Amino acid sequence: MKYKIILAALMAGSFFMAKAQEKAKPEDTETWDPIPKVVTPGNTFRDAPSDAIVLFDGKNLDEWVQADDQSAAKWNVKGDILTVNKQYGNIETKHKFTNYQLHLEWRVPASITGSGQARGNSGVFLASLGKGDAGYELQVLDSYNNKTYVNGMAGSIYKQAIPLANPGRKPGEWQTYDVIWTAPVFNADGSVKSPAKATVFFNGVLVENNFELKGPTLYIGKPEYKAHGAAPIKLQAHGDKSEPLSYRNIWVREL
Ligand code: MG
Repeated sequence: MKYKIILAALMAGSFFMAKAQEKAKPEDTETWDPIPKVVTPGNTFRDAPSDAIVLFDGKNLDEWVQADDQSAAKWNVKGDILTVNKQYGNIETKHKFTNYQLHLEWRVPASITGSGQARGNSGVFLASLGKGDAGYELQVLDSYNNKTYVNGMAGSIYKQAIPLANPGRKPGEWQTYDVIWTAPVFNADGSVKSPAKATVFFNGVLVENNFELKGPTLYIGKPEYKAHGAAPIKLQAHGDKSEPLSYRNIWVREL
Protein backbone atom coordinates (compact mmCIF):
# COMPACT_ATOMS: atom_id res chain seq x y z
CA MET A 1 0.00 0.00 0.00
CA LYS A 2 2.71 2.42 1.07
CA TYR A 3 4.69 1.64 -2.10
CA LYS A 4 1.67 2.39 -4.26
CA ILE A 5 1.30 5.82 -2.67
CA ILE A 6 5.00 6.57 -3.14
CA LEU A 7 4.85 5.34 -6.74
CA ALA A 8 1.77 7.49 -7.44
CA ALA A 9 3.52 10.52 -5.93
CA LEU A 10 6.63 9.90 -8.03
CA MET A 11 4.57 9.54 -11.21
CA ALA A 12 2.63 12.72 -10.47
CA GLY A 13 5.91 14.54 -9.80
CA SER A 14 7.50 13.48 -13.08
CA PHE A 15 4.25 14.30 -14.93
CA PHE A 16 4.31 17.88 -13.64
CA MET A 17 8.03 18.21 -14.37
CA ALA A 18 7.46 17.07 -17.95
CA LYS A 19 4.59 19.55 -18.26
CA ALA A 20 6.79 22.38 -17.01
CA GLN A 21 9.48 21.46 -19.55
CA GLU A 22 6.93 21.43 -22.35
CA LYS A 23 5.87 25.02 -21.63
CA ALA A 24 7.09 27.18 -24.49
CA LYS A 25 9.63 29.88 -23.73
CA PRO A 26 10.60 33.01 -25.72
CA GLU A 27 14.14 31.61 -26.08
CA ASP A 28 12.81 28.58 -27.98
CA THR A 29 12.26 30.68 -31.09
CA GLU A 30 15.42 32.82 -30.97
CA THR A 31 18.10 32.25 -33.63
CA TRP A 32 21.60 33.67 -32.98
CA ASP A 33 23.44 32.90 -36.22
CA PRO A 34 24.43 33.43 -38.96
CA ILE A 35 25.05 37.11 -38.20
CA PRO A 36 24.15 39.18 -41.31
CA LYS A 37 27.09 41.08 -42.81
CA VAL A 38 27.32 44.81 -42.23
CA VAL A 39 26.73 46.97 -45.34
CA THR A 40 27.13 50.75 -45.49
CA PRO A 41 24.03 52.11 -47.24
CA GLY A 42 23.70 54.94 -49.79
CA ASN A 43 21.07 57.67 -49.80
CA THR A 44 17.54 56.23 -49.75
CA PHE A 45 15.20 59.02 -48.71
CA ARG A 46 12.38 59.60 -51.14
CA ASP A 47 9.20 61.65 -51.34
CA ALA A 48 5.79 60.16 -51.95
CA PRO A 49 4.88 59.54 -55.61
CA SER A 50 1.67 61.08 -56.97
CA ASP A 51 -0.56 58.03 -56.45
CA ALA A 52 0.50 57.32 -52.86
CA ILE A 53 -1.72 57.56 -49.80
CA VAL A 54 0.24 59.79 -47.44
CA LEU A 55 -0.05 58.30 -43.96
CA PHE A 56 2.18 60.84 -42.24
CA ASP A 57 3.92 63.92 -43.62
CA GLY A 58 4.32 65.90 -40.42
CA LYS A 59 1.02 67.77 -40.55
CA ASN A 60 -1.17 65.64 -38.30
CA LEU A 61 -2.19 62.13 -37.26
CA ASP A 62 -5.55 62.16 -39.06
CA GLU A 63 -4.80 58.81 -40.76
CA TRP A 64 -4.13 57.05 -37.43
CA VAL A 65 -5.92 55.78 -34.32
CA GLN A 66 -4.83 54.11 -31.09
CA ALA A 67 -4.83 50.40 -31.94
CA ASP A 68 -6.42 49.18 -28.72
CA ASP A 69 -9.53 51.37 -28.59
CA GLN A 70 -9.64 53.17 -31.97
CA SER A 71 -9.55 56.59 -30.25
CA ALA A 72 -7.59 59.49 -31.79
CA ALA A 73 -3.86 58.70 -32.09
CA LYS A 74 -1.94 60.26 -29.20
CA TRP A 75 1.70 59.96 -30.29
CA ASN A 76 3.71 63.19 -30.43
CA VAL A 77 3.96 65.24 -33.63
CA LYS A 78 6.61 67.96 -33.88
CA GLY A 79 8.23 69.44 -36.97
CA ASP A 80 7.53 66.63 -39.51
CA ILE A 81 8.43 63.99 -36.94
CA LEU A 82 6.19 61.48 -35.17
CA THR A 83 7.51 60.14 -31.87
CA VAL A 84 6.25 57.05 -30.07
CA ASN A 85 4.30 57.74 -26.88
CA LYS A 86 4.78 54.56 -24.87
CA GLN A 87 2.14 55.59 -22.37
CA TYR A 88 -0.63 55.14 -24.95
CA GLY A 89 0.48 52.03 -26.84
CA ASN A 90 0.43 51.05 -30.51
CA ILE A 91 -1.18 53.15 -33.25
CA GLU A 92 -2.62 51.88 -36.53
CA THR A 93 -4.01 53.29 -39.77
CA LYS A 94 -7.73 53.95 -40.15
CA HIS A 95 -7.48 52.61 -43.67
CA LYS A 96 -7.26 48.85 -44.21
CA PHE A 97 -4.88 47.44 -46.80
CA THR A 98 -4.38 44.21 -48.69
CA ASN A 99 -1.37 44.31 -51.05
CA TYR A 100 0.81 47.39 -51.03
CA GLN A 101 4.16 49.17 -51.32
CA LEU A 102 5.13 51.04 -48.16
CA HIS A 103 7.83 53.61 -47.44
CA LEU A 104 8.68 54.91 -44.01
CA GLU A 105 11.61 56.42 -42.18
CA TRP A 106 12.61 55.81 -38.58
CA ARG A 107 15.24 57.06 -36.18
CA VAL A 108 16.58 55.74 -32.92
CA PRO A 109 17.60 58.65 -30.62
CA ALA A 110 21.35 59.34 -30.50
CA SER A 111 21.10 59.14 -26.71
CA ILE A 112 19.59 55.64 -26.76
CA THR A 113 20.39 53.38 -23.81
CA GLY A 114 19.77 49.69 -23.10
CA SER A 115 20.83 46.61 -25.00
CA GLY A 116 19.46 43.75 -27.08
CA GLN A 117 15.70 43.97 -27.55
CA ALA A 118 15.51 46.81 -25.02
CA ARG A 119 17.35 49.34 -27.21
CA GLY A 120 15.18 51.37 -29.58
CA ASN A 121 12.56 48.68 -30.10
CA SER A 122 9.48 49.46 -32.18
CA GLY A 123 7.99 47.66 -35.15
CA VAL A 124 5.88 47.91 -38.27
CA PHE A 125 3.00 45.46 -38.25
CA LEU A 126 2.46 44.93 -41.96
CA ALA A 127 -1.08 43.83 -41.16
CA SER A 128 -2.51 44.47 -37.71
CA LEU A 129 -4.72 41.68 -36.43
CA GLY A 130 -6.14 43.46 -33.41
CA LYS A 131 -4.98 44.67 -30.03
CA GLY A 132 -1.46 44.51 -28.63
CA ASP A 133 1.15 43.01 -30.93
CA ALA A 134 -1.24 40.84 -32.94
CA GLY A 135 -0.16 40.82 -36.58
CA TYR A 136 2.94 40.44 -38.75
CA GLU A 137 5.87 42.46 -37.42
CA LEU A 138 8.77 43.85 -39.40
CA GLN A 139 11.15 44.60 -36.52
CA VAL A 140 12.45 48.09 -35.82
CA LEU A 141 15.42 48.13 -33.44
CA ASP A 142 18.84 49.70 -33.04
CA SER A 143 20.96 47.05 -34.77
CA TYR A 144 24.16 49.08 -34.99
CA ASN A 145 26.62 47.19 -32.78
CA ASN A 146 23.73 45.90 -30.70
CA LYS A 147 23.77 42.15 -30.32
CA THR A 148 20.51 40.25 -30.15
CA TYR A 149 18.99 37.18 -31.74
CA VAL A 150 19.31 37.69 -35.50
CA ASN A 151 15.67 36.84 -36.21
CA GLY A 152 14.81 39.78 -33.95
CA MET A 153 17.16 42.47 -35.31
CA ALA A 154 16.15 45.39 -37.56
CA GLY A 155 15.00 44.10 -40.94
CA SER A 156 13.83 40.77 -39.55
CA ILE A 157 10.34 39.43 -39.81
CA TYR A 158 10.14 38.91 -36.09
CA LYS A 159 11.27 35.40 -35.12
CA GLN A 160 10.72 34.14 -38.66
CA ALA A 161 13.22 35.65 -41.09
CA ILE A 162 16.82 36.76 -40.54
CA PRO A 163 17.72 39.85 -42.63
CA LEU A 164 20.02 39.11 -45.59
CA ALA A 165 22.36 41.94 -44.54
CA ASN A 166 22.72 44.58 -41.83
CA PRO A 167 22.70 48.05 -43.46
CA GLY A 168 21.66 49.78 -40.21
CA ARG A 169 22.79 53.35 -39.58
CA LYS A 170 23.90 54.48 -36.14
CA PRO A 171 21.51 55.92 -33.55
CA GLY A 172 20.60 59.52 -34.32
CA GLU A 173 20.51 58.91 -38.11
CA TRP A 174 17.36 58.38 -40.14
CA GLN A 175 16.78 54.99 -41.75
CA THR A 176 14.36 53.84 -44.42
CA TYR A 177 12.16 50.82 -44.95
CA ASP A 178 10.61 50.09 -48.34
CA VAL A 179 8.28 47.12 -48.19
CA ILE A 180 6.28 45.14 -50.72
CA TRP A 181 3.55 43.28 -48.85
CA THR A 182 1.42 40.53 -50.34
CA ALA A 183 -1.41 39.64 -47.99
CA PRO A 184 -2.22 36.00 -47.27
CA VAL A 185 -5.18 34.52 -49.11
CA PHE A 186 -7.52 32.08 -47.38
CA ASN A 187 -9.91 29.43 -48.66
CA ALA A 188 -13.59 29.50 -47.68
CA ASP A 189 -12.91 26.94 -44.92
CA GLY A 190 -10.26 29.23 -43.38
CA SER A 191 -7.25 27.23 -44.59
CA VAL A 192 -4.34 29.05 -46.23
CA LYS A 193 -4.53 29.35 -50.01
CA SER A 194 -1.32 31.37 -50.23
CA PRO A 195 0.80 32.68 -47.34
CA ALA A 196 1.73 36.32 -46.73
CA LYS A 197 4.91 37.46 -48.48
CA ALA A 198 7.24 40.32 -47.65
CA THR A 199 10.04 41.95 -49.59
CA VAL A 200 11.94 44.53 -47.55
CA PHE A 201 14.61 47.07 -48.47
CA PHE A 202 16.39 48.47 -45.37
CA ASN A 203 18.27 51.66 -46.27
CA GLY A 204 17.95 50.57 -49.89
CA VAL A 205 19.50 47.15 -49.30
CA LEU A 206 17.41 44.02 -49.85
CA VAL A 207 16.99 42.29 -46.49
CA GLU A 208 13.88 40.14 -47.11
CA ASN A 209 13.40 38.65 -50.57
CA ASN A 210 9.75 37.67 -51.08
CA PHE A 211 9.80 35.84 -47.75
CA GLU A 212 6.78 33.61 -47.10
CA LEU A 213 5.54 34.12 -43.56
CA LYS A 214 4.61 31.11 -41.45
CA GLY A 215 1.78 33.05 -39.81
CA PRO A 216 1.52 36.05 -37.48
CA THR A 217 4.77 36.90 -35.65
CA LEU A 218 4.87 35.69 -32.04
CA TYR A 219 7.06 36.36 -29.01
CA ILE A 220 6.43 32.84 -27.75
CA GLY A 221 5.46 29.73 -29.67
CA LYS A 222 4.94 28.61 -33.25
CA PRO A 223 3.03 30.82 -35.67
CA GLU A 224 -0.26 29.65 -37.12
CA TYR A 225 -2.49 31.41 -39.65
CA LYS A 226 -6.04 32.44 -38.87
CA ALA A 227 -8.15 33.74 -41.76
CA HIS A 228 -8.54 37.51 -42.03
CA GLY A 229 -9.25 40.20 -44.57
CA ALA A 230 -7.80 43.65 -45.27
CA ALA A 231 -6.02 45.06 -42.22
CA PRO A 232 -4.49 48.30 -40.90
CA ILE A 233 -0.75 48.98 -40.74
CA LYS A 234 0.33 49.30 -37.09
CA LEU A 235 3.33 50.92 -35.38
CA GLN A 236 4.60 49.50 -32.11
CA ALA A 237 5.04 51.29 -28.80
CA HIS A 238 7.37 48.73 -27.24
CA GLY A 239 7.35 48.40 -23.46
CA ASP A 240 11.11 48.59 -22.91
CA LYS A 241 12.60 51.44 -20.84
CA SER A 242 14.78 53.02 -23.57
CA GLU A 243 13.97 56.40 -25.10
CA PRO A 244 11.13 56.30 -27.67
CA LEU A 245 12.06 56.45 -31.35
CA SER A 246 10.60 58.53 -34.15
CA TYR A 247 9.05 58.13 -37.60
CA ARG A 248 8.60 60.43 -40.58
CA ASN A 249 7.56 60.41 -44.25
CA ILE A 250 5.18 57.44 -44.25
CA TRP A 251 3.33 56.63 -47.46
CA VAL A 252 1.76 53.66 -49.12
CA ARG A 253 0.72 52.65 -52.64
CA GLU A 254 -2.02 50.06 -52.94
CA LEU A 255 -1.30 47.29 -55.44
MG1 MG B 1 9.42 45.33 -32.02
